[in-house]
Amino acid sequence: MGLGKDVTQPQWVNVLVDYGGQPAAYTYEVPPDLEVGVGDILTVPFRHQSIGAIALSLSRTPPANLVPAQIRSVEGIVEQRFFAAAYWELLQRVAGHYQVSLIQVLKTALPPGLLARSQRRLRLRRDRLPLTQPEALSPELKTIVDDLQRSPHGDYTWPYLQRRGHSYRAMQQLIQLGWAESYLAPPQPPKTKQRQAVTLVCGDTPPIELTARQQDILATLRRQGGDLWLSDALQLCQTTSPTLKRLAQAGCLVIEPREQLRAEAGPRLSADQPKPLTDYQAAALHYINKSQQGSQFLLHGVTGSGKTEVYLQAIAPRLAAGQSALVLVPEIGLTPQLTDRFRRRFGDQVWVYHSGLADGERYDTWRQSFKPAKPLVIVGTRSAIFMPLPQLGLIILDEEHDSSYKQDVSPCYHARTVARWRAELENCPLVLGSATPSLESWVQCQELGPESAKSELPKNALPWTYLSLPERVRAQPLPQVKVIDMRDELQAGNRNILSRSLQTALAAMKAEGNQGLLFIHRRGHSSFVSCRSCGHVIMCPHCDVSLSYHQPGANSTMTLRCHYCGFSQGHPRHCPACGSPYLKHFGSGTQRVVNALAETFPDLRCIRFDSDTTRTKGAHRALLTRFAEGGADLLVGTQMLTKGIDLPQVTLVGIIAADGLLYMNDYWASERALQMLIQVAGRAGRGEQPGQVLLQTYTPDHPVIEAVTQHAYQGFIAEEWAQRQLLQYPPAGQMVLLRLSCTDPEVVEQTAATLAQHLGQMLKGSSYQLLGPAPAPIPRVARRFRWHLLAKGPKHEPLPDLRVLKQHCPATVSLTIDVDPLNLA
Ligand code: ADP
Ligand code: ZN
Ligand code: ZN
Repeated sequence: MGLGKDVTQPQWVNVLVDYGGQPAAYTYEVPPDLEVGVGDILTVPFRHQSIGAIALSLSRTPPANLVPAQIRSVEGIVEQRFFAAAYWELLQRVAGHYQVSLIQVLKTALPPGLLARSQRRLRLRRDRLPLTQPEALSPELKTIVDDLQRSPHGDYTWPYLQRRGHSYRAMQQLIQLGWAESYLAPPQPPKTKQRQAVTLVCGDTPPIELTARQQDILATLRRQGGDLWLSDALQLCQTTSPTLKRLAQAGCLVIEPREQLRAEAGPRLSADQPKPLTDYQAAALHYINKSQQGSQFLLHGVTGSGKTEVYLQAIAPRLAAGQSALVLVPEIGLTPQLTDRFRRRFGDQVWVYHSGLADGERYDTWRQSFKPAKPLVIVGTRSAIFMPLPQLGLIILDEEHDSSYKQDVSPCYHARTVARWRAELENCPLVLGSATPSLESWVQCQELGPESAKSELPKNALPWTYLSLPERVRAQPLPQVKVIDMRDELQAGNRNILSRSLQTALAAMKAEGNQGLLFIHRRGHSSFVSCRSCGHVIMCPHCDVSLSYHQPGANSTMTLRCHYCGFSQGHPRHCPACGSPYLKHFGSGTQRVVNALAETFPDLRCIRFDSDTTRTKGAHRALLTRFAEGGADLLVGTQMLTKGIDLPQVTLVGIIAADGLLYMNDYWASERALQMLIQVAGRAGRGEQPGQVLLQTYTPDHPVIEAVTQHAYQGFIAEEWAQRQLLQYPPAGQMVLLRLSCTDPEVVEQTAATLAQHLGQMLKGSSYQLLGPAPAPIPRVARRFRWHLLAKGPKHEPLPDLRVLKQHCPATVSLTIDVDPLNLA
């Protein structure tokens, strides 16, 4: 900001402060002698304190709603350009495109308490030393000075001095008298903890003669990869420190302190080496490694084609060159196997970042990644795209089609879009990987061919490269998909949820000692309770949706829960409307399927894998490990089964109710249904044995079902693209959804009408079309009434700034602007 600053003209700065855990924006005046720039960390007066603030924007005019004389001044600059220019630019772009304030983006991007962790310190003014008139100080002030003089730099934190009994008032007085000054130290990178670690250093020929017990210990350590925390080693080897120390003295191993982050400590894993690549993998890797600037790749690899191995080998040379990598995955809890593979390859250079971490862990990981001691691989969910890694060498988005990359609360960003901008701004390559790429990414690659698609691409778009892994590793065939028409089952008198073919296949699987997965599509309200006598459906008292029933185990009690607001209640004995005791459960929940299985196949060992059984931390991993180790024959679960499970023993996949997926009313329901079905099917036959998929449906002729059986992804997607172009749906067009909600139904309806008027004015003369206002598909959630406004237009025509509409919303109405919405409900 130094350039051309006119010191005679006052400047105002809009800052973000984080007071009491509530980040908010305020305006301050910039004193003429300070050169404040956006992205600086400042210290500003707030109530009766000085606190940390981030400079968001500068202006030459004070905000209209404030009296200039009442605006307080910035006290000082704590750290200039705390945020790198490219990073700051990224945050601004997110705010601009998704039509939110920069503060909202910052709240998402930064870990909790970043500013709160700036330390306020009190420093003796050395230039006033030695004290000319010590007797001028009161005894109380004198003791503070004495304390400060004992510190190497003449300073301590305020809380420390207060703990030593010095009063706030006395310290203020010291500052006023000019003996000391108060300043803010930037948030510190966390201190790493030191922990004792054991490393095996001898090969197969130990330097000394070993006892059988000692050999035993070394063998155990070797099996664990030869590198463990001391406490883990003691426990695993059932031994004592002196025993290990003797082995250390003999030169068999080394015990030394090592840094441990407060960040999530994963299990210690055995190391793993790069695999020799298949020709397809090698070709893909070649292109990625050769890329210099911000090239973007779509890695389309069928399930089990070895995409992860390509990621790993693309990352390795970047790390060697001192660059870090960012790997995004849809849901970390669901993919312990994937994180393990990264840890095996890159050890403690792999850090995990997601919103499930404790605040302290998140802060540590974020802050450490600011200036890491060595290059890192950060594996994380959506928000990890904002990790401030310097020297970013590569960004990978695995399962790029997954809708959990889109945030459904403000800011409603899509991590794939943000990743593209970041790759562009930081000039690093981006790899999007999937077995079922999103239509949007297909179109970017221009693989579909229609000239119309090409001509619509913006001129400055970065080059995209389409990379394909069309075969599975070791060339196992893709599993055969057999469609079972459930109407025939009914006609043949089979009322079981399992078709006859699926029963036969399960019996054969069990007889051959193989394993299987059973997929049940279940949406929030697809399992409900209704009365057989009067037809009454039990509804949530706060939302316009039915309650779903849940039963954590076969013998546990049933509860009813609302998936929208979290309301839950016990299962009633009688119909609340007519008192009839005959209540019926609709939908095929996992527990119901497990019960049905137990009747038909008493010997079959099943594990339920759904939101009820995986509620506790680590439950995913535990259940998957048990299954992988042969602790069960069948994994019965919901959508979670579609994500990143790589189990070579699985030969059979059953899909119970494909139909629920096909009839959702979003514009991209078909695309999503096909993606999900191909992903589940792809879990079969990943090992030596071929796989088989049995898909039960009432609509075998549905184009999605046909595409699954033929593994005809490309053809289906081309047709889907034609449809979207016709209707101008994304990615052929652009949409923005305004969601309004309020506890008062009249106020929200009125506001929706007002906004529609203003929006209509704003869109006049543009090609945008306004749809609505209309009540949301679920008109009431958590006691709030909801209305929608939708604007739809051509892809590259910019939208007006809709943030101004907030002015027309009463305080009781909440307005969320969802640009590029995936979910119109
Ligand atoms: P995807 O991510 O495409 O579904 P994975 O990367 O999980 O596929 O690979 C499937 C399986 O094949 C994994 O068990 C992986 O270890 C193995 N694999 C991948 N590449 C190779 C290779 N080049 N040689 C041998 N095995 C491989
Ligand atoms: Zn009833
Ligand atoms: Zn509810």
